[in-house]
Amino acid sequence: MNHIYYCKRCLYPSSKPDLWFKDGVCGACHSFDKRSHYDWKNGPQVLREIIHQNKVNPSYDCIVPVSGGKDSTYQAWKLLREGYNPLCVTAPTDQLTPLGRKNIENLKTLGCDYIEISVNQQVRNKINRHAFFNVGDIQWPEHVLIYTIPVHAAVLFKIPIIVWGECPQREYGAGKPEDATLKYFDRRVLEEYGSLNGLRVSDLLNIDGINARDLYFYEYPAADKVEELGIKGLYLDNYFPWNGISNVTIAQSIGFQTYHEPILGTIANYENLDNYVHGIHDYLKYLKFGFGRATDVACNLIRRNLLMRDDAIDLVAKNDGLFPSHYMHKSLEEILNAYNISMQQFSDICDEFTNYDLFQTTPSGELILRPDGSPRLLADFSCVSN
Ligand SMILES: [Zn+2]
Repeated sequence: MNHIYYCKRCLYPSSKPDLWFKDGVCGACHSFDKRSHYDWKNGPQVLREIIHQNKVNPSYDCIVPVSGGKDSTYQAWKLLREGYNPLCVTAPTDQLTPLGRKNIENLKTLGCDYIEISVNQQVRNKINRHAFFNVGDIQWPEHVLIYTIPVHAAVLFKIPIIVWGECPQREYGAGKPEDATLKYFDRRVLEEYGSLNGLRVSDLLNIDGINARDLYFYEYPAADKVEELGIKGLYLDNYFPWNGISNVTIAQSIGFQTYHEPILGTIANYENLDNYVHGIHDYLKYLKFGFGRATDVACNLIRRNLLMRDDAIDLVAKNDGLFPSHYMHKSLEEILNAYNISMQQFSDICDEFTNYDLFQTTPSGELILRPDGSPRLLADFSCVSN
């Protein structure tokens, strides 16, 4: 029996973690409506005052966490355009693609200093493997490091202001309604919403061959250091309107490159270009929660009136949650090899984390599969709540 319902405005399902609904409309749509009436004229001045009042390092105004993707390319460009001198910091992805590297190199040409902090790859691969088997998340190290490494850099270089991009609680409705007006990103937000899937850094000490000294960058910097410096994680979308779609246009105009063909499991070729494991991550999300990357992209477009909900249903049904047999021309087997995970183990873990309530099954309880091998959703997008 299908227990889930869908937002009547976009296509987000009630099975999406941390999503709230009011009057049949999801938190992401409610947040978007509010922000379209927001008066942005004071934003730049408010940001200027915060950065000015918190300046410690005479050279740098702020840290900007960047991946080279469309959004962080826009962030760096926007801050430079506003006259700031940001220090861009990258926490590299798990399996960086050549296109991801190209886009990082492009970002380095924009006119600011840039550093990249890489962690021990052998340790990292063990954590990827452990997280995949235990919480069904092969991308766990990346989900942690993209949030902790910029804060370490802030402490290290004494730059208290970190300018993140969009607030996910606002943009994707992922969290309590009161968090849709979040001003600052901090340790509490990371622990509550940071996709840690219940796995704590201290749990990693249970992995064979991993010691506390291997985990320095995975830990959030000590509270006294964060307080002493007065670190503040700001969201750029509190000061300037945020539009992931126009970010693509701006980023492309300054050298950012998209992929040359459609990417399996989604309907966009302009995001998630920097890590071969994105496809596996998104597939597990589909198995656990009944929606994948195509839904995220479609919902963003629907909210901005760039896609009709009816048309989006077709696109999502055809592309969401497809079996990740390859990602950007690298085979699944090859991607898994880095973590010493066999195809059989992959299949077993997928089965273990599949929420059978979300998919069609035979009378004997077997999953009914689509031609590509992925389970067939029970989805009925006309099922909405009142
Ligand atoms: Zn919605």
